[in-house]
Amino acid sequence: MASAAAPLPVPKEEPPAASNEVVSPADALYDKCAQRSEGTVFFQRDLSNMQVAETMADLTLLLQDLCDRHLMKLMTLEGEPCWKLRSRSEADKLRRLTPDERLLYHHIDQVQAEGVWSKALRMRTNFTQQNMTKCLKSLESKDLVQSVMSVKFPNRKMYLLKHLQPSEDIAGGPWQSEGDFDTALIDAISSVIAQHIENETCIKVPGNWNDYGQHDRAAAIAQKKAQVLGVQDIEDAPAVKPYQSYRDPNSSRLVHKNSPQYPTAASVATWLNSKEVLRGKTCREDDMEQLLEMMVLDGRLEKISGTNYRTVLTATDTKIYNGFVDAPCGNCPVFDLCGDEGEISARTCVYFGQWLETQSEEV
Ligand code: SF4
Repeated sequence: MASAAAPLPVPKEEPPAASNEVVSPADALYDKCAQRSEGTVFFQRDLSNMQVAETMADLTLLLQDLCDRHLMKLMTLEGEPCWKLRSRSEADKLRRLTPDERLLYHHIDQVQAEGVWSKALRMRTNFTQQNMTKCLKSLESKDLVQSVMSVKFPNRKMYLLKHLQPSEDIAGGPWQSEGDFDTALIDAISSVIAQHIENETCIKVPGNWNDYGQHDRAAAIAQKKAQVLGVQDIEDAPAVKPYQSYRDPNSSRLVHKNSPQYPTAASVATWLNSKEVLRGKTCREDDMEQLLEMMVLDGRLEKISGTNYRTVLTATDTKIYNGFVDAPCGNCPVFDLCGDEGEISARTCVYFGQWLETQSEEV
């Protein structure tokens, strides 16, 4: 990783732009560098190949000029000097800083996305607390620096450059924002993931798909009542046939795919990162596993063979009626007390009476 070099450039006023201004060689070099993508790191050979400076000595002078005007930042990458461009507006803000503010900015710039604790900054600069607070507030008000509460050490206020995304160590994973879990983001992302996993593991079929016998539920109950009314002993009645609810062929329902490619935390994380919905953050496999496990606990997903996940189908997708569940015994509060003999029996059962709209026999 490139690190900012120690020397602090002496502030230099930017000359005012004139309409027919002749571009200086330093500005010509800056403009050529600005044509490259943002954040490009330039080595001496790259700058030399731009053929703005005729000799290495000239190039060194141009670079020194740009660094003095804060338009370029000198860094080292694996021991080799390199330069990075600053925007003209940022350079302009830096030129207006006081020496103390500039020193603080330099220290904060060095740590990049890792951020630096305010106490560590004070030790490095030997500033008084009062001066330190004043300079940091000024840098924040000029939109050059931001402060973030550390997730790892909740009492520590960390400072980093305004345009940088805080590292996961200080801001938490992709599901956290400013130290807290971002519930709105988690809800939105889990809905997107639930839909993705549903697409991968389920298919939509017509409402009457795989329906082996359509029955009219009301007619089936009426038929059953007629049978029961025709026999003396309820236990002599024929067994109730399994009953399936009527399914509308025009509706649709979900069923699990046969042998799908089950998504894993790694595959879902890769898919989510490819969609770039996390606004610059990257979701690692561990982060995704955390979210998928939460969705399992919420009953939205189920885990298949350790690492694979699939959609949980709701009861309405799979509900099949049968006579036993429908009959009162299926959820009778005195089931354990009911027997052939005694006060509670099928002969005296009030629940059957209500269900069949008949009178129970008195003992
Ligand atoms: S009391 Fe009635 S409903 Fe309950 S178990 Fe006995 S027969 Fe079934």
